[in-house]
Amino acid sequence: MKAVVVHQHGGPEQLHYQEVDAPAPGPGEALVSIKSIGVNFIDIYHRTGLYHVQPPLIPGMEAAGVVAAVGPSVSEVVPGDRVAYAMTRGAYAEYALVPSRNLVVVPEALSFDLAAASMLQGMTAHYLTHSTYPLKQGDIALVHAAAGGAGLLIVQMARMLGARVIGTTSTEAKAVLASQAGCDEVILYTKQDFQSETRRLTGGRGVDVVYDSVGASTFEKSLDSLRPRGVMVTFGNASGPVPPLSPLVLSQKGSLFLTRPTLAHYSSTREELLQRAGDVLGWVAEGKLSVHVHRAYALTEASQAHIDLEARKTTGKLLLKP
Ligand code: NDP
Repeated sequence: MKAVVVHQHGGPEQLHYQEVDAPAPGPGEALVSIKSIGVNFIDIYHRTGLYHVQPPLIPGMEAAGVVAAVGPSVSEVVPGDRVAYAMTRGAYAEYALVPSRNLVVVPEALSFDLAAASMLQGMTAHYLTHSTYPLKQGDIALVHAAAGGAGLLIVQMARMLGARVIGTTSTEAKAVLASQAGCDEVILYTKQDFQSETRRLTGGRGVDVVYDSVGASTFEKSLDSLRPRGVMVTFGNASGPVPPLSPLVLSQKGSLFLTRPTLAHYSSTREELLQRAGDVLGWVAEGKLSVHVHRAYALTEASQAHIDLEARKTTGKLLLKP
């Protein structure tokens, strides 16, 4: 089969499209014939080594396809099922081995592309807004990179829960998209100081929660945008990892709460996975949640997809097609 392989950590040029041996499912595993692959920032971290995985490795943490075969002791799916998954590495390929407990059956109404585009960022938006800081009517949330893959979904879910949403984006065009997704206000954080602007928009109070996927370049001002006892959710490193900090800082800035969550810990049981994925795929199928696909690239163009994502040229979701 064809796959994209990283033989050594580095830039997008390290993504090699090549022939590899097709895997066979072992106990508890299914072999999925991949129809559509979701590109995520975590794929860049695996490629560069920021999140260390020993090469050679096949990147890709999200896909949708058809179960081609199952190993012993698999009860969740049967060959022929239309399925999707997130958080199992190896999706940049024609076939992938996936623990069957990670697979969810895709509703008939949903295309493989929309299913692949929804799983990882959709479940992330779900746990951030429903579990990490469960938003309620009247809360004010600051969402960075609001026109990004995760951002557009966080904004929509925050609005579903009745929150007021302040988004940040780098360009006017992205601001338009973030507004269409439901942002009440959008700050161009490349031109305006988002901290003072957030204070102004909240009458000096600050926001209840910041969902910050940008990391190094926004972290400090995000803390300064919170109300006393507000919640700082730092969940990504698009601009680089956040440097270490002393807990005393949280006291000085208003007895703040700080958490650094990951989807793996918010979908670790089969029950939680089915509940989150069921909500997300159901909302997309019903048209309650809109998934904006920036572009579907051929799998042979994986390096171009990484270049575009890293260069902040994209909005919403990038897909790869094997
Ligand atoms: P996005 O589509 O959000 O792309 C990243 C966006 O970040 C860019 O479009 C850009 O938006 C903004 N950005 C700001 N500074 C930079 C920079 N220096 N370089 C690149 N981008 C920058 O990507 P994803 O939705 O895939 O992921 C967003 C983040 O969320 C990633 O850090 C990812 O790891 C994290 N994440 C974390 C999860 C978790 O469970 N912890 C799960 C899923 C994602 P703009 O141009 O508007 O500034």
